[in-house]
Amino acid sequence: MGKNRVLVLYYHRVNVSEMDYNLLCVSPIRFRQQMLYLKNNYQIVRFEDDWNSLDTDAVAITFDDGYLDNLTYAVPVLEELEVPATVFVSTGGLNQTKEFWWDELEQLLIVGENFPPSLKLEDDEFHCEWNTGTYEYRKNCYLGLHHLMKNYVGADKREEWLKQLWNWRGLKRKVRENNRLLSPDDCRKMDSARMVSVGAHTVSHPSLVNLDKKEQEREIRDSVDVLSRLLNKEITLFSYPFGGPEVDFDDDTVEICRRCGIQKAASTENALWVSGTNPYRIPRKVARDWNIGEFERKIKEYWTE
Ligand SMILES: [Zn+2]
Repeated sequence: MGKNRVLVLYYHRVNVSEMDYNLLCVSPIRFRQQMLYLKNNYQIVRFEDDWNSLDTDAVAITFDDGYLDNLTYAVPVLEELEVPATVFVSTGGLNQTKEFWWDELEQLLIVGENFPPSLKLEDDEFHCEWNTGTYEYRKNCYLGLHHLMKNYVGADKREEWLKQLWNWRGLKRKVRENNRLLSPDDCRKMDSARMVSVGAHTVSHPSLVNLDKKEQEREIRDSVDVLSRLLNKEITLFSYPFGGPEVDFDDDTVEICRRCGIQKAASTENALWVSGTNPYRIPRKVARDWNIGEFERKIKEYWTE
């Protein structure tokens, strides 16, 4: 058994955004600096490689969700610097001109002005009302709705609520150019990039553990099927939406992934990969919009904490 470790980093977006409430964006300039630093200091491995045969510590790069900016800004850097990365795509967005629901919530509650003073959710199960008169109240409302939409509400109801919220706000539902998702064609381009591999990330990005096993299987299998048809290859990599062990996925989810042909799956457990780590529970550490000094410090810290 080797003693080497792998630090798996996860990104979401490479972009500049006027509003980035969930801190998902890393600017293209900083992303290039970060990749250059890693390339100069570490062996960078592919997520799908067998890491047991390494004789040194290494880093792996991943992206979650499937934002278009991955193709626009990240892929050129990865190709130029020859840094491999894996992009986990939620397939529900592929044929939609729609933002992810958390980005829509940002548009609805955080961005802009002229908000109604309160929001009453019309729902026969959830009777919620929030004060929305100030920015602080609206942040609170955002968190409340995010929590409900992540943990208690399926894709259909989420959609219903979003429509309701657009009405409440008195705005036409729109997709911000910056927040676009990959189209099927973009996804093919992504996959044909030499340094990039594509994995699945469910259809509608649910916290899987909240679904019954049948629904979990549908979410996982459909995303795997859609991608393997689109890219004409077997899809064997996966990352769990939200990624918290036991909070967002559990042993049942792992078993379903195995049945769907997945061979390696990433969580957001904050740890390093070591020899013997369950391949269906690969831990990862987050990368943020840090300048190169902060990034260097964080990466060094990541090996020791
Ligand atoms: Zn995700």
